Amino acid sequence: MKIAVAGAGIIGACTAWAAAKQGHAVTLFEQDSVMAHTSQSSSKLLHGGLRYLETGQFALVKKALHARRFWLAQAPHLCRPLELLFPVYEGRGRPKWQIGIGTKLYDFLAAGSGFPRSRWLSKAETLERSPALLSDGLKGAFSFYDAQMDDFALGRWVVDQCRSLGVNVEERHKIETLAELDGFDRIANATGPWAMALRRQQGGEPAYTIDWVRGSHIFIDREQKQALMLPIPQEKRIFFVLPYQGKTLIGTTEIRQNHPEAERPSETETDYLLAAYNAYHSEKLTAADVSGSFSGVRPLLKSAANPSDATREWAFERIGNVLHIYGGKWTTAQLQGEAALQELLK
Ligand SMILES: Cc1cc2nc3c(=O)[nH]c(=O)nc-3n(C[C@H](O)[C@H](O)[C@H](O)COP(=O)(O)OP(=O)(O)OC[C@H]3O[C@@H](n4cnc5c(N)ncnc54)[C@H](O)[C@@H]3O)c2cc1C
Repeated sequence: MKIAVAGAGIIGACTAWAAAKQGHAVTLFEQDSVMAHTSQSSSKLLHGGLRYLETGQFALVKKALHARRFWLAQAPHLCRPLELLFPVYEGRGRPKWQIGIGTKLYDFLAAGSGFPRSRWLSKAETLERSPALLSDGLKGAFSFYDAQMDDFALGRWVVDQCRSLGVNVEERHKIETLAELDGFDRIANATGPWAMALRRQQGGEPAYTIDWVRGSHIFIDREQKQALMLPIPQEKRIFFVLPYQGKTLIGTTEIRQNHPEAERPSETETDYLLAAYNAYHSEKLTAADVSGSFSGVRPLLKSAANPSDATREWAFERIGNVLHIYGGKWTTAQLQGEAALQELLK
């Protein structure tokens, strides 16, 4: 079949890849350059999403835990297993027993994925790995495993796989109207945060709505040895302090927007992330320590009043020969691409 895919973020690239592997004639259209938007602005984690267990997304977490292995096997030069610590403080955040149940459930759902199991580290072991953490009130930490990627490079690698299978990649080619794609047998709308723009051209009430939730990260020009997952003080949210390319990456925020374009991280967001970091470290950071920042817009399925609780699942809507793709995660993009192709070929 002649298949057009609009949008060369990771979801469009994986859809094009799945179609090309089956021998279809695929053109991938991208309004800017490949991986120019959300797919290069993630937290760089190939992860099951420990925190999604709290919202009961067990099937998604299991799928994502196993999807990590795919990327590590396919592109070991662009991703690596990553040990994270979830420190536990007396009287702060979730109690130890609760995180313990979460990490055990994570192990159970990950069974067979080849990652080490979680374990409890004493206070001394925790401070040995992460000496900058506040020692007052520290009980210890849960160690668990996920993986880290260079999202921009890994996404471009997928597009290279597409090209090597004959996919025609057209950058700087915006699909203004679906009518432009009349010559194609099937069309996939994989435009992520922009999905509603093409969907609306078909009329009727869309089956899903996109919830645009901006997430920002900041860089500190100093090497972070140990990856940390920590609760934001007085909130249910968590944030990450990650080693990334010789720097410290801190994120993320969740700010609901009413449009798909990523705005620059605001001063408020930077201050919020610095305050979260400072709540757990003796050496305090200020805005002067921030050497860079970036933000991206999550194209989430609208499903919860609080964006933090919104599902990270994907959904499809098929109208005529067009498949609209909504939501999803980087980690599960390859599975999502395969599933999108199946829907597209029906
Ligand atoms: C802050 C943040 C942190 C995240 N962290 C993680 C994480 O650690 N792990 C994880 O698994 N997931 C994470 N995610 C989620 C993940 O990044 C996204 O789910 C995924 O990147 C979305 O990819 P996409 O292809 O749908 O969107 P995009 O990458 O935005 O791609 C859509 C593309 O479509 C193009 N386009 C739009 N309209 C048109 C048109 N009319 N014609 C042609 N092209 C068009 C755009 O230019 C864009 O390149 C995070 C997301 C954010 C925002």
